[in-house]
Amino acid sequence: MGDAEAIAEVASVYAELEKRPVERSCTRLTECCQFKLTGKTPYLTAGEAMHTAAALRAAGVHRISEKKDGSCPLLQSESGRCLIYEDRPFSCRTHFCQAAGGPYARREVVDLIRKLEDLDYAVGGCGAQSLPAALKEALERPVAKHGVRATVSPRSRGR
Ligand code: SF4
Repeated sequence: MGDAEAIAEVASVYAELEKRPVERSCTRLTECCQFKLTGKTPYLTAGEAMHTAAALRAAGVHRISEKKDGSCPLLQSESGRCLIYEDRPFSCRTHFCQAAGGPYARREVVDLIRKLEDLDYAVGGCGAQSLPAALKEALERPVAKHGVRATVSPRSRGR
């Protein structure tokens, strides 16, 4: 499976998730982006990491650095917003935030989790990794020549 195909598949999983009738209200408080404070870090499958890396490259970011305060490397210090909010990973959409309604029940999204796991296998991943590690690896991958950037959201700017 090519990068563009994998990234498009991840985008379709996120689109399907948005259609689920699960009441959630993320108001971009960014509390869940404070990994050190919450003690929780999102884990990304390889396909998600490729999708997020494509969104980062589209935003002109080609490497990430650990933050001293232990927050997500994609949380912008100046604005306090997520750099790629519209393209944020599955965990950022479904876990962590009590203010947004709490974690999704596994039964509500298990089919989508399986799709992401199958995709991880298809692209040669070895299971979900923590966001910083997964993104570092994905950003170090050579960029595919065609079609990758077109599949991430053009609205992915600022949380
Ligand atoms: S990717 Fe974005 S939404 Fe997810 S933890 Fe990082 S800053 Fe927050």
